Amino acid sequence: MAAAANTAAGRFSRRDALKLGARAGLAALPFLNGVPRVIAQAAQVSPPSSPARPNPNFPAVPSWETELRELAPGVYAYIQAGGPGRDNVSVSNAGVVVGDDGVMVIDTLTAPIHAKNFIAAIRNVTDKPFRHVINTHHHSDHVNGNQYFGPAEVVGHTYCREEVLKMIPGPATWPKRDGWADGTEPRRIVAPSTTFDEKMTFHYGSTVVDLIFMGPAHTYGDIVVHLPQHRLLFAGDIAFYYVAPFAQNAHVTKWLSAVDRITAMDVQTIVPGHGPIGGKAELTDMAGYFVLLKREARKRYDAKMSPGRAAADISMGKYENWIGPERIVMDTVRLYAEFDGTLVPSMDVEGTRKATEEYNALKQPGR
Ligand SMILES: [Zn+2]
Repeated sequence: MAAAANTAAGRFSRRDALKLGARAGLAALPFLNGVPRVIAQAAQVSPPSSPARPNPNFPAVPSWETELRELAPGVYAYIQAGGPGRDNVSVSNAGVVVGDDGVMVIDTLTAPIHAKNFIAAIRNVTDKPFRHVINTHHHSDHVNGNQYFGPAEVVGHTYCREEVLKMIPGPATWPKRDGWADGTEPRRIVAPSTTFDEKMTFHYGSTVVDLIFMGPAHTYGDIVVHLPQHRLLFAGDIAFYYVAPFAQNAHVTKWLSAVDRITAMDVQTIVPGHGPIGGKAELTDMAGYFVLLKREARKRYDAKMSPGRAAADISMGKYENWIGPERIVMDTVRLYAEFDGTLVPSMDVEGTRKATEEYNALKQPGR
């Protein structure tokens, strides 16, 4: 398996994989960064339909800017710019907690330049050393920057560590890409070295930081970072605001249960994995995407419609204006597996490829 993976890695650079993924309408699939077998298969997918245009019958999605925003004393959200007409590929968010003698970072972004910009923003507010990196889940747009925070201890769920370890084969340097990497940075995937299964608590000065397992949801290893004194939650990719949620490794129904658990918590501010800072109202809004999609997908599943055709057939209303509406394809494939009882933690690459081809063909202009 390792030999096959290395061969595939030699044929497809990460940049190539992302380009191929972009052509396939799978541009922001984080798994493309690190799993050569999947890259090779994703390369088989045909070109997509033209980009979706906003539906004027529904609210336009706002844009948001890159910022390090202080949400409580010594606690910051790092939001990366996004919104309509921008390159939203793998644009994820992160967090910072400054303690008495060190800094905790919550997720480390996609590639060297994202991580370096994040560190530069942190250095505007503190010069204390990095002590802990928390990975909310294993997707590469949350863990790829881990290497820049050494010797901080990297902490994540047991499942997260197992999945990051699988990502390790790949190029020795980060492939050059504007805004991502200059082509010279050594590539080193750093998995969590400290793991837990249910809950872990840190005391950063007087700030209590609870890490709470909230999966399966977006993945089978999601954790959230709760700061109870500040009624603040870093939700990782359990929360997508104004960005269509990915479900390629998800259990959608349990994800909705996780949303219910968060809604029942004493939380006021939620930092999503993707999109601007919000709260419970935005989280409920995102859950509405899955409630609608699950209901509509179920009807088509029962009518024996293929998932690609179902994804092309379903009207998502206001969610069609969210960033990345084509993610409905992988999300529908995932729901079909849930309906079938065949769901497993890893992505159904072949099923998604077939569904994407069918969806793209049906969505061609003029049809
Ligand atoms: Zn994710």
